This record gives sequence, structure tokens and C-alpha cells, in this order.
Amino acid sequence: MGKLVFERPIIKKLSSGMPSKFGMKTKIDPIIEIDNNLVKDLLNEFGSPLFVISEKTMRKTYQKAKRSFSTRYPKVQFSWSYKTNYLDAVCRVFHQEGSWAEVVSGFEYDKAIRNGVSGDHIIFNGPDKSMEDLEKAVLNSSLIHIDHFDELYNLIELADKLDKVPKVAIRVNMDTGIYPQWDRFGFNYDNGEAWDALNRIMLSKKLDLVGLHTHIGTYILTASAYNKAASKLADLTSGLERKYGHIIKYIDMGGGFASKSTLKGAYLSGTDTAPSFDDYADAISSALINSSIKPENLPLLILETGRALIDDAGYILGTILANKRLADGRRATIADIGINLLFTSFWYEHNIVPAQPFSDHTEETAIYGPLCMNIDVLREAIDFPALKPGDHIVINRVGAYNMTQWMQFITMRPNVIMIDMEGKPFIIRKNETIETILAQEVVPAYLK
Ligand SMILES: *Cc1c(COP(=O)(O)O)cnc(C)c1O
Repeated sequence: MGKLVFERPIIKKLSSGMPSKFGMKTKIDPIIEIDNNLVKDLLNEFGSPLFVISEKTMRKTYQKAKRSFSTRYPKVQFSWSYKTNYLDAVCRVFHQEGSWAEVVSGFEYDKAIRNGVSGDHIIFNGPDKSMEDLEKAVLNSSLIHIDHFDELYNLIELADKLDKVPKVAIRVNMDTGIYPQWDRFGFNYDNGEAWDALNRIMLSKKLDLVGLHTHIGTYILTASAYNKAASKLADLTSGLERKYGHIIKYIDMGGGFASKSTLKGAYLSGTDTAPSFDDYADAISSALINSSIKPENLPLLILETGRALIDDAGYILGTILANKRLADGRRATIADIGINLLFTSFWYEHNIVPAQPFSDHTEETAIYGPLCMNIDVLREAIDFPALKPGDHIVINRVGAYNMTQWMQFITMRPNVIMIDMEGKPFIIRKNETIETILAQEVVPAYLK
């Protein structure tokens, strides 16, 4: 047995077995190792804080999602949502598993091309596609998902200029019972705008309408919303069949599946409330197979799920810098993980656990990041054991949106490593240094 940790004695009301304002006392399990690598060793080797991605968890999650859909529907294709995590190593793992790329900017488009994705396997979404972006996408036969009428007219103009027939889909927004409705992207189903766009495309004869797309929101906790959305897209599909004899090749249901992270203010943990891939797959596939689309014309089903595929595979490891007491006596712990690295802490109550064994005594604790900024709070209040400076903590389920929305602020962005299938860690994004930051700055000659 190792030396016991000294804890400064305090007086505290005992409430064992009774629910507190946090609910029943939850058991905290330390995360001591990730895929056979001790957290302590990883921090020693790669520095603190440190982002870690488990390739094993990524592949396992992907295969589970794939199975849920392909056992329920004949033709399924996943397309990796770049903005969720566009580190090349991450994208390449999903591409190896068979995912296409789903991008929402010229920058992401170029990244997908550099990752070896063929042009016709890139789905180009989003409201911001410049003429140059569109031209590149048309020449590469990429799948362009039209967001608004101005883009539609740009594409018709481009088709003439390039003497090519762009492959397009329209993004459709609709009432699915999820509010507020995401009606700022694409064409509305319920007020007839989607049909207006489809008719313009069909009558122009300049564009090849290959698909229909929707992305109803993110972290959608009700699978039935997808059933409504898929039914509405199926309705457009069979309408096109009837009106033009035109067959839609794919229906793209977007992303938005919830991960197991817990939303702020949620009463129950995300592990208990998030629907499973099976639930989403049931909702979507039953809408399509029970629709009036002719069986021989059933379209390919594309899914752009991001968060639900990568969140669980991501961890951030850090070190306790200090402990202190707030004016009201509450305990506060300062860690070296700032919210500039953890954008998702604005809407998640992240699971934060010690990386080494700890005593059973827990206390309400505020966990702060290292920034000299009042908003740098990882957890307002968590029932947490006492850790001492130099101890390590682990925050899991941070694979989605943090490594793209992070910012360089006060401190620099740390190393990101991936642990491969054999349990070997590799750096996949190097930590920033003062040199990498200054390389972008320019001082005018008169200030030199
Ligand atoms: C962001 C986005 C996704 C991925 O969403 P998740 O919530 O991460 O699953 C998919 N499609 C489009 C069009 C998006 O904008």
C-alpha cells in the first residue's frame, strides 16, 4: 500500500445515503489508463494538458453505428462530418472504415481532397460556398447540397460556363417537432419552398438532381424526429417520381445523433438518456421502407453523424495546479485545462474524474481552468474527492467539436495523440509554441 494522502481536516455535515442537490451520491471511478497506457505516463511523455483519441473506440463506435443501419436498410453510406473533428488522422480512420467526407467550407473541402477522398465522395454542405469553391466541386463531380436560391442560380450559371452538369441535392428544413426549428439552412418543406427549389432545378435542365438532404439539429434526443424528417424527404422523393419520372439516388439524413455526454441542467446523465444507434436507425429506416417510394427505387441512405461517432473516443488529461477555499468556504480546485480547449463545456457537464486512486471523502468542489478569466469554469459544483497539486484528472467524451472549436488564448494548444489499435500512442497534432504563434505575426518596419 502506498503512502496515504494527507487531507486537511474540515467540519462537514454528514449526509450519507441521502440524496443531495446533486441527486444520489454517485460513485466516481478513476480513469487510470486509456487503452493500456497509464494516464501518468502519457502526461509525462507528451506534456500536460493532453488530448487523447482512442482509435479502438472510434472504430468500435463506427462499426456499431454501421451495423445498426445496414441491418435495417439495404443501402447505407456514412459520410464523416469534418467540422466535428477534422484532424487528418481522425478523418483517415473514418475514411478507412468506408466513410465519405461531409464538408462545409472550402478549407474543409481541400482537407478532404488531401486526405485522398475522391471528389465524387465529398458532400459539400453549408451556406458559404464561393464561386471558386463551387467551380472546384463541379469539376470534381462532388455532391453539392444547395442551401439557398442564390447558390442555385450560381450553379446554373456555372453549369453553362463550365459546360458541365453539376450533381446537386437540396437541403430541406422542416417541422419535426424539435424546437426551435432549424429553418435557416436550406429550403422549407412545410411552406412549399422545397418544391419551388426542386421545380426550378428540374426545369432548368442544367443540374443533375441526385439527392435530398436534411440535418435537423444537433444532440437530438428524440429519435422520432428523424422518422418525421425521413417521411418528409420520402414524400418529396415519390413526388419527383410522379411528377417528373425522376429518380432520387440518395436521401441524406444529416447528423445530430446525441452522444453520451450530459447536457448542462439535465436531470439524468447522457449515458441514460441518449437514444442508441438502433433507435435512430429504426426511426429512419421504417420511414423510408414504409413510404410510397417504389421498392426498386429505394435511395441510398447517407448519414453524416459526427458527435455520436467521435465524442466517446476523445479524452483530455490534465494536472491539478492548486486547491483553495472560496469566500463562502467552498472548495475550489484549479486544473491546467482551460475552457479555451474545451468549448463544449459551455453546454455539457463533462465527466471529470481523478486519474489515480483517491479517498472516499468527497466534497462539493468548483473546478476551474488556468485562465485569468472569470468564465474559465470546468464545473461549477461537483461532488469530488480532494486531489493535491500534481495529481492528474481525466475528462472523457470530448472527441467532438473541441479540437475544431478550441482557441489559442493565454495558453497554447497542447499535443493531441492517438492511441492506435495496438495501444501505441502517436502525436497527431503537435502542441503550439511561441514560434508557431509568432510565425503568423508581422511587425511593421517602423515598429522594429
Ligand atoms: C454539423 C453537421 C453534421 C454533424 O452533426 P453532429 O451533430 O455532429 O452529428 C452533419 N451534417 C451537417 C450538414 C452539419 O452541419
